[in-house]
Amino acid sequence: MSKVITLKERPSGKPEEKNFEFKTEDKPEIGEGEILLESKYISVDPYLRGRMRDEDSYIPPFKIDEPLASMVVAEVIESKSNDFEKGDHVSGMLDWKEIQKHTGEGLNKITNKDVPLSAYLGILGLTGLTAYLALETIGKLKEGETLLVSGAAGAVGSVVGQIGKIKGCRVVGIAGTDEKIDHIKSKFGFDAGINYKTTENIKEDIAKACPDGVDVYFDNVGGDILDAAMQNINDFARIINCGAISIYNKEEVPKGMRLEGIMVKKRALMQGFIVRDHADQFQDAIKQLGSWLADDKLKFDETKREGFDNVPKAFIEIFEGKNTGKMLVKV
Ligand code: NDP
Repeated sequence: MSKVITLKERPSGKPEEKNFEFKTEDKPEIGEGEILLESKYISVDPYLRGRMRDEDSYIPPFKIDEPLASMVVAEVIESKSNDFEKGDHVSGMLDWKEIQKHTGEGLNKITNKDVPLSAYLGILGLTGLTAYLALETIGKLKEGETLLVSGAAGAVGSVVGQIGKIKGCRVVGIAGTDEKIDHIKSKFGFDAGINYKTTENIKEDIAKACPDGVDVYFDNVGGDILDAAMQNINDFARIINCGAISIYNKEEVPKGMRLEGIMVKKRALMQGFIVRDHADQFQDAIKQLGSWLADDKLKFDETKREGFDNVPKAFIEIFEGKNTGKMLVKV
């Protein structure tokens, strides 16, 4: 038997464990050309909250009573395919199941054994790729510029900051605890940090931490923090709308500052970014991230929860800021 996690009901506000249901199914039989996969690490990501809404988006919504899915690292435990052998490891978009069959199409075979398997869900997976490719395509950092990033201690944000340092920028991070601020400075080399939960005036604190203004703002959170960042941008600033976790659980989108005056005055560029649009650049990007990793120019954090039963809880914990770096579950 194999466990499966389905969406029982669409969350209203912050997701709760009661929104998910555990079911069991028989271990599937595989046919010619198919493989049987056992999940090893399951990625839980903020964007999955969007897929729990019944709304059109760049990726279709999850269906009620059907399995959820995310990036998973899995082991091939049986193979009737010429492309995979028993014992191979793969990463790809897979269902939240302990065991599942697959044709292998679209899966990435993991061949580099020098990095831990879980890294393919973080630094060498979609979050590392997001940080790198959004900076390459929109941020276009120049040496000496100031880069501000929110969600700075998270999977995407911590990589963004380190790439900023590699490119010779002043890097300032925004995160939700003093421990996270100390950590991004000591481990990842951020020049300064702001705790958005304890600051009395985030706009002024950004101004103090960015005395030359903000050239690139990498936005992972949206909301009031975006408004405060926008009041500190320089001429020709680039603003990357990567995520908006501060509004993902809101049933009504909160109203904020009008940005058009600033955008015109500063001749700024603000652009949304979806990593999947850049799939043709993934292999080159992984090569670059892997080489920085090997040279110790990039470090990464993981917050690992243990056990398949804890996947929904780990997902909910992201919205409580319980993770540093990539949140994932070791099955
Ligand atoms: P993180 O590892 O950064 O985890 C999310 C973090 O967000 C939490 O740890 C928490 O840290 C912070 N957070 C939670 N609630 C709030 C809030 N209300 N206001 C401000 N911060 C909050 O997640 P990822 O690195 O996986 O993702 C970061 C962002 O990037 C998300 O918005 C995600 O949707 C987006 N993303 C976008 C992609 C794309 O292609 N566009 C691809 C991948 C991710 P803290 O303690 O600091 O509050």
